[in-house]
Amino acid sequence: MHVLILGVGDAFTRKRFGSSALIQGPAGHLQIDCPDPIHRVIHEAAQPSGWNVSVDTIDDILITHLHGDHCNGVESVGFWRYVLRAQGKQSHLPRLHATRAVVDRLWPRLAPAMDTLIGLSRPARLEDYFDIRLLQPDGRTIHRIAGLDVRVRTTTHYIPTVGVLASDGKSTFGWSGDSRFEQAHIDWLDQADLFVHEANFPPAHTTLDELAALPDRIRRKMRLVHLADDQDPAPFGLTALREGEVLAV
Ligand SMILES: [Zn+2]
Repeated sequence: MHVLILGVGDAFTRKRFGSSALIQGPAGHLQIDCPDPIHRVIHEAAQPSGWNVSVDTIDDILITHLHGDHCNGVESVGFWRYVLRAQGKQSHLPRLHATRAVVDRLWPRLAPAMDTLIGLSRPARLEDYFDIRLLQPDGRTIHRIAGLDVRVRTTTHYIPTVGVLASDGKSTFGWSGDSRFEQAHIDWLDQADLFVHEANFPPAHTTLDELAALPDRIRRKMRLVHLADDQDPAPFGLTALREGEVLAV
């Protein structure tokens, strides 16, 4: 399995894009989170690695939570894919995968910009833009997405947030989602061959000190995203990812 790292920044970055990734599954691509400016985020990550992907081609997007650095790109994806259908270039909706807690509050966030469409006599709905697929955040339920077996687990963050495990039957990739340090979450991610963990400042995030204290075996298969621009994990013996980097899991 290959994973293209789209963004590695936090909510306040001057230099990077919001933490996000693209998994190449057996039956398509699964995008984890959707920061702004998503068309450029995907373009700049895909260019150096030669991945032929864009907002046009990515049909499965998983939203971990509703902080803007993880979901501000959803509006642009919804509008752009609507335009492609209106122009007759596509006929299908992109699928949006999220928990009930996220789906219920996503449309109130988007509606002021998206609930009116010329030619539509009723108010537009979230379902006019996306095929909504609910995720069960129990850590066990398997959701089949892009040919991958995907599980999600609720993390400890300000608002409802999930981490992700995705398996293609040969290997498993993990993504912590935004979270404070939680040993049970690390234990769950430990099922992966390689996982990406967030790090930033407390109390909403995991500190580098906490991750540096993990056993060698865990740290060897862990990579970091969501660091502040001036945070350097190297003195902690930890490895940060770069945008455009491709992980072979
Ligand atoms: Zn967050």
